[in-house]
Amino acid sequence: MSRYRIRSREYGVGVRRTSGSRAACATRPTSGDGECSVADRGTAVYFPDTLGELLLLARREPDALIYSGGTFILNQRVSRFADLPPAVISLQDVEELKRVSRSERYLEIGAALPIRDILALGRSNVPECLYSALRMIGPAAVASLATLGGNIAVPGRILTSVPVLSLLDARVELRRQGSSRWLAVSRVHKPNGNLELAESEVITRVRIPLQPWSVEVFRRFGSELAPESEPLSFCGLARTSNRIVEEIRIIGSAGLPAPLRSRDVESELVGRRIPLAERDIATAVEVYQTLGTGLTPIQRDRFVRLVQWFLLNLPAS
Ligand SMILES: Cc1cc2nc3c(=O)[nH]c(=O)nc-3n(C[C@H](O)[C@H](O)[C@H](O)COP(=O)(O)OP(=O)(O)OC[C@H]3O[C@@H](n4cnc5c(N)ncnc54)[C@H](O)[C@@H]3O)c2cc1C
Repeated sequence: MSRYRIRSREYGVGVRRTSGSRAACATRPTSGDGECSVADRGTAVYFPDTLGELLLLARREPDALIYSGGTFILNQRVSRFADLPPAVISLQDVEELKRVSRSERYLEIGAALPIRDILALGRSNVPECLYSALRMIGPAAVASLATLGGNIAVPGRILTSVPVLSLLDARVELRRQGSSRWLAVSRVHKPNGNLELAESEVITRVRIPLQPWSVEVFRRFGSELAPESEPLSFCGLARTSNRIVEEIRIIGSAGLPAPLRSRDVESELVGRRIPLAERDIATAVEVYQTLGTGLTPIQRDRFVRLVQWFLLNLPAS
């Protein structure tokens, strides 16, 4: 037995090994810790109490699944039991990953803080577009477990918060034993769908720059979890003053690794007078019509209409 608590619990639907003939280790702990030995039973679920223990475990078990709120992991199961690998590391007891701090320049959110708790910070403490996006993640029961780290770190899927965090220039802190680095959220997902995380690296916090915007818009159609709903999310940010565009950022996502964004169009629009000339809007829309691949006609139509609507309705100041 390691010095960490090694337990296996039923997470509502139970856990079991993906392969092998040994009995599943899905015993609900009734008394004590409900410990089960890795050698004797199925999936071992580790519950580190501190960040130091987590990083040590992640190094010792490089193939372990990081289990944060578990809402995505369990949502993907095809039968009553989730197919978990032999080792799972739960983040639920690591208090360092649930901290929030705010300065004049940044909001920092621990990767394992539930989305419900982020929303509880209130609209005045969270960028408006991020708040709107987080409100759309699951019903209340899901939001009370689901975490921001888990929303960012699903391989091959761009979930609800990612385009918004990218547009806000947010970065994630990646830690592994003996090293730490910061990576832009926009670079966490490689074009091939894999994550830019190295072996044993864990997302520990998300740093979001706080900037004044005249308008922040987030809209979503469908759900990233249901491709048949032809999901499309849109986020637009603009800072304007005296009828002039000072800064503008626009992003769309169809849930695919390639975001729909044109920095060229954004730079072209800086310095333009509001309301924007019809010609400027038409030129911008033409570019957005050609961005990205793999979108359905409905997704593209939704994106282009939202861009048009956003540009037409920029506030004068
Ligand atoms: C009914 C329902 C509705 C939902 N609706 C939405 C929705 O509208 N939008 C949406 O985006 N999602 C939705 N989800 C999916 C899910 O709830 C969210 O994406 C959630 O944010 C995932 O967070 P989690 O903590 O549960 O992640 P987990 O399921 O624990 O993990 C997800 C992935 O991230 C990895 N991971 C987690 N934390 C870290 C970390 N700190 N470092 C490195 N890797 C990590 C895990 O290994 C795993 O691969 C929904 C789920 C359900 C069940």
